[in-house]
This record gives sequence, structure tokens and C-alpha cells, in this order.
Amino acid sequence: MYSPENIRKYFPILDSEVNQHKLVYLDNAATTQKHQSVIDTVSQFYEKENSNIHRGVHYLSQLSTNKFEQTRESVKNFINAQHTHEVIFTKGTTDSINLLAFSYSKILKKGDEVIVSEMEHHSNLVPWQMCCDYSQATLKVIPITNSGELDMSFFKKELSKKTKLVALTHISNSLGTINPIEKIIELTHQTDAKILIDGAQAAAHAKLDVQKLDVDFYCFSAHKLYGPTGVGVLYGKEKLLNMLPPYQGGGEMIKDVSIHKTTYAELPHKFEAGTPNIAGVIAFKKAIDFIEEIGVENMKEHEDILLNYATLKLEEIPNLSIIGTAPKKSGIISFVVSGIHHYDLGLILDKLGVAIRTGHHCTQPVMKKMNVSGTSRISFACYNTKTELDYTVDCIKKAIKMLS
Ligand SMILES: *Cc1c(COP(=O)(O)O)cnc(C)c1O
Repeated sequence: MYSPENIRKYFPILDSEVNQHKLVYLDNAATTQKHQSVIDTVSQFYEKENSNIHRGVHYLSQLSTNKFEQTRESVKNFINAQHTHEVIFTKGTTDSINLLAFSYSKILKKGDEVIVSEMEHHSNLVPWQMCCDYSQATLKVIPITNSGELDMSFFKKELSKKTKLVALTHISNSLGTINPIEKIIELTHQTDAKILIDGAQAAAHAKLDVQKLDVDFYCFSAHKLYGPTGVGVLYGKEKLLNMLPPYQGGGEMIKDVSIHKTTYAELPHKFEAGTPNIAGVIAFKKAIDFIEEIGVENMKEHEDILLNYATLKLEEIPNLSIIGTAPKKSGIISFVVSGIHHYDLGLILDKLGVAIRTGHHCTQPVMKKMNVSGTSRISFACYNTKTELDYTVDCIKKAIKMLS
């Protein structure tokens, strides 16, 4: 039996009080809370194991190298990659996308096209604007519909021989829409174009199989998967990663350096210059272990129940409108209340112990399209409960009364 109450025992922060109220944490799309084993692993690393990786002959360096590489193996299994060296560690989703956008900016030319969508997080939009700026390629943007879905007919029309890369989000962080990425990948591969999926919102809420999806690149952040901040993943097919030029130069990514010429290391090191977040990567394995122990499908099922429950309750509130009403949604609800600013609503909820997100959620084009200056957003994780949602909905009603 799935028990959020049981899961909560392993997340110490969920026991805390905020403004004299028990914390209700509903900002999981921004970052999730950390499992006790993740917290313990970080502190144990610094207490007992700290050492740089891949360099030393000494005991501690080999210990940390082994543990670091074990996480790579875990990630490989978690997403079902074919090879361990197809898993590149980065600082996060933003870093993963910048890596790819930089490398692509070196191989794209005038006349080439990159396709993104109007629902992208700024992290999957701005790097491609920069990439196209540097390479003189053209950026095409798939519009979204009023319900917050991709306009697929536009996508099919724009996809052509000129398309070199499609960069799309798996799940929208401001609307909750789950995009039909299987179909989009299939369509993309009917041309010579490659495809990157931004999985920052998906990796903790959907079972991933990069081989089955046949996706070329996929990225996500550990901190949205109950893991540490400062750790991310870029998965890429071996052949493509080999073809791309490296992003940053420095230690670790080289094979041989003379003063005028350097040859690059093999994958994955070619893309991992400098000392990474070693403690974070090692602790990330514990987060993956936790997700696999509970089962991502079970977590998703629970979050879907919360999503439906909260959607029905919120829809009953007069003057409240949900922004993003796609039939297939993940555990994210954005809403506005007419006559009330989202910031004021967020402040009152905070006074009552409820943590939600307000603003544009790093998706200003979505806000513009939906004709709002921002929204209030609640987002669920595996440890949230119906009781928390009942309390939150009561608090929202109370806040609306105070503000109107
Ligand atoms: C959070 C998020 C990002 C950025 O992730 P960082 O961890 O801040 O680098 C990118 N895309 C989506 C869809 C996100 O939700």
C-alpha cells in the first residue's frame, strides 16, 4: 500500500513549522525536499570520504571515484541508457542545455533551423536564442493552444530538411501539460533532425526509457528528484556526443595537452571539465535508490490522485481559474483569482505555513500567451497528502476573503 505518511518520515524538513504552522510544502516543481539518506550521504562524504576524483592513487580518491561512478551507473539504469558513458554529469538542467546549445552553436550554419515551443522554461529557450544568434541559424517556435497544449499542426508544418534540432519540454513547469513526446520524437526522426527533451519536470514523475523513446538527448536536475542541488544529467546517444565539440575546457576533459594543442578525453569526461559536485553526485544515488524502491509509477499514481482531488476542489472556488487545462497533466496546478494579485495570495498562504510559488515561473512567454502577469502554482510530490490539500484549499478561501 502506498503511504505518503510513511514516506514523510524520511523527509525531516516536512516536520518543521513555518510561521507557527505546520509546513505544507507545495513548491515541488521548483525543488523537492531531500530524503534523509541523501542528507546523510552528503555529510558523511565531507566527514569521512572527501577527496577529489579520477586523479589520486590514494585510498580516499579511489573511494570517492568509485562512488561517483556508481551514481553514473545508477542513472544509466534509471533512464535505461545503453552505455554508462552516455550519462554526462552537469550542474543541472540549465547547465545541460547550455552545454548542448554551445556545442550546437559550433556546428549549425545559416539556413539551419532549431525548433522550440512557446511553453519552454527560459532554460530551454534562452540558450537556443543564443545558439541561433551565434550560428546564424533560425529559431522556430511552436505556439501553444488556450488549454496549454502544443499546436501539433504547426510543428508538423515547420519540421523540414532545414530542421537540425528540436528542443522541447517533456512536462510544462508552469501549466503541467504532459507533451506527447513519443509522437514528437517519431515525427522528428522522419527527418534528419535530432531532438532534446527537457525532462526537469518529468524525471521524478514518469518512467523513463531513453532507448525505447529513441530520444537523442534528455536532461534533468537531481534537485527536482529528491536529490541535491548543483547536480544534473545530460544523456546523449554515444554517436552524437562523440560528434559534438566539447563545451568547457580544463582539467579532467583532456587526453593530452601541450602548450599549443590538446586532444580531448573520451566520453563522458570530454564534457566534464573541472572538479564536479562530488558529494552531490554521490548522494544523488540515494535519491534514485529511494525512487526505485517506491517506484516512480506508484509515485505518479499518487500524484495523479492529488492532482484530480485538488483540481475539483479549486474549481469550486468562485473567481478562481486554472491556467493550463490539458487533458494530460502532471501534478502542477497554476491558477489566478480575478481581482487578487498572486503575490498577495502567496504571502497570506505563507503566513499560514503553506509554501506555493507565485510569479511567471521562468516562462514569461506562457504568461503572455495566457494573458496573465503571473499565477499561483501548487505542485505535488510523492509525500504530499489529501489532508494538506484540504488545509491549503481552506487557506486559499480564507486569503481570498481577506483580500477581496
Ligand atoms: C526547473 C526547470 C528547469 C531548470 O532547471 P535547473 O535545475 O534550475 O537548472 C528547466 N526546465 C524545466 C521544465 C524546469 O522545470
